[in-house]
Amino acid sequence: MQFQSTRSTEQASLDQALVNGLAADGGLYVPVELPQFDVRDFAGANTLTDVARVLLTPFFQGSALLAELPAILAETFRFPIPLTPLPGKCDNAEILELYHGPTAAFKDVGAGFLAACLSRLQGDPAQPLTILVATSGDTGGAVAAAFDQRIGMRVVVLFPEGRVSERQAQQLTCWSDNVLSVSVKGSFDDCQKLVKQAMANVPLASQFHFSSANSINIGRLLPQTTYYAYASLKHYRSTGRKPGFVIPTGNLGNAHACVMTRAMGLPIAAIVLATNANRTIPDYLESLEWRPRASIQTLATAMDVGDPSNMERLRGLLGDAAALRRQIDVYAVDDADIRAAIRTDFSEFGFATCPHTATATHVWRHMRPDLRSSTDWIIVATAHPAKFETVVEPLIGTHVGLPAELAAILSRPSRSVMIRPSLDALTEAMRERFIPG
Ligand SMILES: *Cc1c(COP(=O)(O)O)cnc(C)c1O
Repeated sequence: MQFQSTRSTEQASLDQALVNGLAADGGLYVPVELPQFDVRDFAGANTLTDVARVLLTPFFQGSALLAELPAILAETFRFPIPLTPLPGKCDNAEILELYHGPTAAFKDVGAGFLAACLSRLQGDPAQPLTILVATSGDTGGAVAAAFDQRIGMRVVVLFPEGRVSERQAQQLTCWSDNVLSVSVKGSFDDCQKLVKQAMANVPLASQFHFSSANSINIGRLLPQTTYYAYASLKHYRSTGRKPGFVIPTGNLGNAHACVMTRAMGLPIAAIVLATNANRTIPDYLESLEWRPRASIQTLATAMDVGDPSNMERLRGLLGDAAALRRQIDVYAVDDADIRAAIRTDFSEFGFATCPHTATATHVWRHMRPDLRSSTDWIIVATAHPAKFETVVEPLIGTHVGLPAELAAILSRPSRSVMIRPSLDALTEAMRERFIPG
């Protein structure tokens, strides 16, 4: 299938879109058309990987990766994505647990899929591809884990010194020789600026063969459609009802994947987004005016986005604010309500939720009554609470057990280099690690 930029008629094949990340005109790649499905197309497809193969095959027509799709999916879904019923009094609600991957957040799905694709397209030991990623916490860990030890692939992760949690820092710095972890004496914005400078530097770019793995790459969105398809089919087959989804939302990647899945004909009723106190999206649907702004810090840090880049894709698919308002609902949740939701979840469900997931459980409890009663709900859980234990544990008054994969990561040796926020310092760190002699 061909992909087209959101800003012009520029087109690319899937393979080019995966490698390029961003279109040359600065737009985001979207499929020229969405394939259409009927529930019957998934007959016999019962597991997540079976469903994923049916759903993603049309996107891979014409791609060098088509024959590899089953292997790519097997690599991506090495961990389960359970759909767990909530206790009886919760009106048939279920929770979609996206946090069983190596770094305990849903970003492991997109990062794993992208790594499986790129290493097949580009993994040349003689001329390794270098993925540059600036992170404020979650993304960098997922990308490093996904590319760790891959032949012909290197990762350089830049994170702001002292501004990520201890457990996040460990997830950024515990990998093999092909992952260089760089702690930058500056802010997240400084890290992002360095990535842009490095990519724009022609001699450096030709020496290191740069690519990016940030969340606007279509290779992170496509695999995220598969768990919405899988969960909605599972619910529909067992109840005859189309479920709605409540989705914690920051940069709109995960939510847009759900909107794409519904647009492809999967049995999904309402889609409700939960943001934290960064209100750009709810304000847009209310005022019909798009006013991006600087992000503010909240307890759900991975959703601290004031200018969600995937809005460009969402508008392209659903239309302007007035049209969006008819097709999705959005609620903002402040920190006090996040805290309250974590407590209520623990007493009502019997398990802890992370601050991001808690925005969704809060919205599920407090959405408009007619919307709430319109369908059954699947609440999307984006990270394991143990990742955010410093927030969660004091609220629930007990220890949150570590999942095995996260425990393994936390016990590994860690290493990073610290640099000033300058391109010279970054170049030196990269040469020292990657250029022999
Ligand atoms: C990145 C992230 C989000 C936000 O997802 P978007 O695709 O940016 O909307 C929510 N929760 C967690 C735990 C995340 O890491």
